[in-house]
Amino acid sequence: MKQKTILKKIGECPICSSKKSSLYMDTQDYFYSQEPFSITQCNECEFLYTNPVPQNMFKYYQTEKYYSHNTASGGVVSEIYSLLRRLNIKKKYNLLNKITSGKSILDVGCGTGELLGYFKNKGWATMGIEPNDKARAIAYNNNDGNIYGEDHLAELKPKSFDIITLWHVLEHVEHLNTRMEELKRLIKKGGSLVFALPNINSPDSKKYGAFWAALDVPRHLYHFNEKSFKKLLAKHGLKLVSSLPMKLDSYYVSMLSEKYMGNSLYMPAAFINGTISNIKAKKNNNYSSMIFVVRNI
Ligand SMILES: [Zn+2]
Repeated sequence: MKQKTILKKIGECPICSSKKSSLYMDTQDYFYSQEPFSITQCNECEFLYTNPVPQNMFKYYQTEKYYSHNTASGGVVSEIYSLLRRLNIKKKYNLLNKITSGKSILDVGCGTGELLGYFKNKGWATMGIEPNDKARAIAYNNNDGNIYGEDHLAELKPKSFDIITLWHVLEHVEHLNTRMEELKRLIKKGGSLVFALPNINSPDSKKYGAFWAALDVPRHLYHFNEKSFKKLLAKHGLKLVSSLPMKLDSYYVSMLSEKYMGNSLYMPAAFINGTISNIKAKKNNNYSSMIFVVRNI
């Protein structure tokens, strides 16, 4: 039953193309396979990326809890997740309304499409891209259609959207630079690209080290901080206009990290450490996860 994992070495830095890199950290896939993986640091630009990566990434997403986080089946973790998700959707809606007067949104990696359903109910024109077949089928129902696989991006007309969002998605995308160019092509002039990314410089990342749940290897191919994300943007002629905190993420990430460390009292530990992370992060806007708003000028 168990297939041997064939690994593929990443020969050059996805941002600066340098071939020189050093081992940054050994960790493992605590979420699903329990297999060991490593993170490499580029010697030139300091970017952190998972290396090597599995040749076939498909199997690492073959767990229902990854895309739906068990929307129906209960359990404390999924209850919390779905509560946070509802709060998050409302917050995201308020944020996006502030940064645009247009009402067309493309959500890349839309998962089961709850966010798009919410926007559609508010009168927005919505479209979703989702590579996972099962998640896409659910999203299709949540959004009355208009959900496609990744190949559809190439077929869309230039300057089609006021807002393009990638909520915890870019770190999963294999062809990072191709995707950035696609996004740039699809956003209207004056529109915004919005990226939510885990922040490897956050206090909870420092605390949990190799157990930090937002490393999520091998599914997360890149481990950004604001500095490395800005470098990626500069490479594609894009500019960051604001960096906003995602304060709920520190709790969720701390909870998973505590579980990975084998702490059966992960709930109170997550509450305490999530709060500590947010307090420390305030000093230099270095939260567990960040929302980066990029304007196409
Ligand atoms: Zn580099």
